[in-house]
Amino acid sequence: MPDPVRESVQSKLTDIVAMRRKLHAMPETGFKETATAAYIADRLKAAGLEVHTGIGQTGVVGVLNGSSDGPSLMVRADIDGLPVIEKTGLEFASENGVMHACGHDGHITMAVAAAELLAPMKDRLKGRVVFAFQPAEEIVTGALAMEQDGLFDRWQSDRVIGTHLWNQLPTGFVGVNRGTVFASADAIRIEVTGKGGHGAMPHMTVDPVAMAAQIVSTAQTIVSRELSPNEMGVVTFGQIHGGSAPNVIADNVVVEGTVRAYIPEVREQIFDSLRRITANVASAMRGTASLEHLYGAPPVINNPGVANWVSGIAAQVAGEESVDESPPVSVGDDMAEFLNRIPGTYFLLGAAKEGTEGHHNARFDFDEDCLPIGTEIFVRSALDYLK
Ligand SMILES: [Zn+2]
Ligand SMILES: [Zn+2]
Repeated sequence: MPDPVRESVQSKLTDIVAMRRKLHAMPETGFKETATAAYIADRLKAAGLEVHTGIGQTGVVGVLNGSSDGPSLMVRADIDGLPVIEKTGLEFASENGVMHACGHDGHITMAVAAAELLAPMKDRLKGRVVFAFQPAEEIVTGALAMEQDGLFDRWQSDRVIGTHLWNQLPTGFVGVNRGTVFASADAIRIEVTGKGGHGAMPHMTVDPVAMAAQIVSTAQTIVSRELSPNEMGVVTFGQIHGGSAPNVIADNVVVEGTVRAYIPEVREQIFDSLRRITANVASAMRGTASLEHLYGAPPVINNPGVANWVSGIAAQVAGEESVDESPPVSVGDDMAEFLNRIPGTYFLLGAAKEGTEGHHNARFDFDEDCLPIGTEIFVRSALDYLK
């Protein structure tokens, strides 16, 4: 039996692929997504949605009001690219030094396509759908920026859904977890302060390089010695800067890193340990050090009830055998801020493509066959929740 929702998505397939490729060729980094936002706003307006721009600087909100009052479903899509020089060789590759290397071009496409497909059916909706196009996910600050501009007050919603396409999972698979999806992601900065001087007379100085080295190695014992073997935690220092010459002891050294955890308590525990080690190692070596939290997001944890519901919708689209839990991934995503405020679910959309590399790689790409699946899940979720 032909299914009208399936048919409407299938008949839009050429447009969906064209939209994704157009967006792929025009990536912009966090809070600079002006052309992207304009493109989204134009399409939503043309479809008849109520459109609000400048929500969280470059964020866009599109509201599709149904025929009568009812609950509000929020659909969230992130819209930023990464400062990566694309090396895919695709005919629609970006040439502006920024790359949609995480698949957010696909996320925008699925949400816009769902809005366009739902708009002509709005008489069937009791309630409304709020499409939240979030900037600056890659620096996990866009969700809070949208909140500051009233996202969660002006468009209070009862449920939130969103997806991240994932090219490490097979196309056709939909991962719906009843709990943790992604880890918390925090950026930290440690400034170690000593007393500079002549490299040949260390006794006249307090060496911040030696202190920083000790802090970095002692911090490795947080995960290996302080966390339970059953808990997941990551402490990575990706940058260390200090000094200006081989024979000069510097005044200070800056170390920057990232912290990941699957549960909020472990996230806190790692931070407590980092503060203790930073301050005490420095003081034991006659210097000082301070730890600054630059930015971050909590772990992405789904509401089990909403996850059950999404799982049922996904099964209608992809088939029951293709919907399952998938192992949590240690990346972060500020979809967490949405899920901390509104019961919701972030599902993973399999998008593996042969010959490509993983997310954030210059040779990243994904299987466009995932796009109609995600689009259809969004459309069916709205029709079901607002019926
Ligand atoms: Zn990413
Ligand atoms: Zn991403």
